[in-house]
Amino acid sequence: MGRLVVVSNRVPAARDRQQPAGGLAVALRDALSEGQCLWFGWSGQQIPEEDKAEREVSIDKVDNVTYATIDLTHSEFDGFYQKYSNGILWPLCHYRAGLMSYTRADREVYLDVNQLFAEKLLPLLQPGDLIWIHDYHLFPLGQALRDLGVTSPIGFFLHIPFPPWSLMKALPGAERLMRNMHAYDVIGLQTEDDARNMNDGFSVCGVEARAQVFPIGIDPESFAEQARDGLEHAEVLRLQESLRGKPFIIGVDRLDYSKGLPERFKGYEAFLKRYPEHKGKVVYLQITPVSRGQVEEYRLLKEELDEAAGRINGMYGDFDWTPIRYLTKPVPRELLAGFYRLADAALVTPLRDGMNLVAKEYVAAQDGKDPGVLILSHFAGAAPEMEDALLVNPHDADEIADALHKALTMAQSERCDRWNRLQPDVWRVTAGSWARDFIGMLAAKVKRA
Ligand code: UDP
Repeated sequence: MGRLVVVSNRVPAARDRQQPAGGLAVALRDALSEGQCLWFGWSGQQIPEEDKAEREVSIDKVDNVTYATIDLTHSEFDGFYQKYSNGILWPLCHYRAGLMSYTRADREVYLDVNQLFAEKLLPLLQPGDLIWIHDYHLFPLGQALRDLGVTSPIGFFLHIPFPPWSLMKALPGAERLMRNMHAYDVIGLQTEDDARNMNDGFSVCGVEARAQVFPIGIDPESFAEQARDGLEHAEVLRLQESLRGKPFIIGVDRLDYSKGLPERFKGYEAFLKRYPEHKGKVVYLQITPVSRGQVEEYRLLKEELDEAAGRINGMYGDFDWTPIRYLTKPVPRELLAGFYRLADAALVTPLRDGMNLVAKEYVAAQDGKDPGVLILSHFAGAAPEMEDALLVNPHDADEIADALHKALTMAQSERCDRWNRLQPDVWRVTAGSWARDFIGMLAAKVKRA
């Protein structure tokens, strides 16, 4: 098999290159451990406009992986990353066309940065490479590489949802975007719905339909081990002591409007109103690290959540009880694993989510003899694989309330049955199997003439 070339918007920072911490790095760990690999993308650094002409690719080799990164100027970062990728494509792909704020100028910067990626990557490519491009920041990169004469197999994986064509076509230039996807030999999406939506788009635009489903997973073995070892962490013990045996509900989501957090708080409030017997007796910990704080929508959402948590705590709390423990700082994954294991229920209620790894991590972290209950939105990409969770519509506060009550009063035998049916898929579809399946499909493509 040829050398694997991974291209993503962000490349792991130097400090994370020995021990990967981030999502994609963890998911690709096995794939990157074999043969020679190249990982190309943005360094995470911004430079002034006047330094643009002199910028060079920076190369760092760690074992068999070469990390090649370029800096972006402030205006490239703003137009390509903040505005077009996260202010237009992200809301649209999460079915929130109303939140997208399109300008033609931002689209130009997005296309220019994709062209820059192609030009800087080209000299690093070798015959026999397998090129794997990741996510919505880089939709047009495959075509930009083909235009420069690259003939190697190129694959593309979209980590976020793909909406129905009737919605996607609201994007100016959507047809061109779809036609340029012709450059890819393999196109992977998370769910059947996403692949069907993209293939519908292809058929409207006269492109051969080739989107396939490759659901992403976690590394369940190591996650389960971290969860079992959790009680060795002083912080996990501190949390356990603070619970004083009370039922414990956990939520873990980046602060993002796709995660349905205001709706979840309404659901929790409905739960306290409708089932007052739980008042003063449950602990709900919501961990919501702030993300994309420079984008207006995210700032407004943070204000809304801060206000809602404060209001619910003021209204339902007591001098010895806080209804919501609400944190906006990130928690390291090994601690999260221990926290999940302590939790009697997890609330994973996105309005729309590519996959949602928290749902799979929560299941992996449970003690199979006395597992907690997963409450999961129908609109998470994980839902079709996890039908033995308590599935809810996140827009219905009363449904969330009922699910919480059901979870906290569920007999141990039902909890075990549900977990026993959820667990096999979490172990079967893993990060490793996802990468292997995709790369295997790409390797099978004959080199283009
Ligand atoms: N995560 C973490 N610390 C936090 C919050 C989240 O390590 O404080 C991790 C979490 O364990 C999961 C990932 O971030 O692995 C979030 O992935 P998911 O697919 O659920 O959502 P995304 O943020 O990619 O939309």
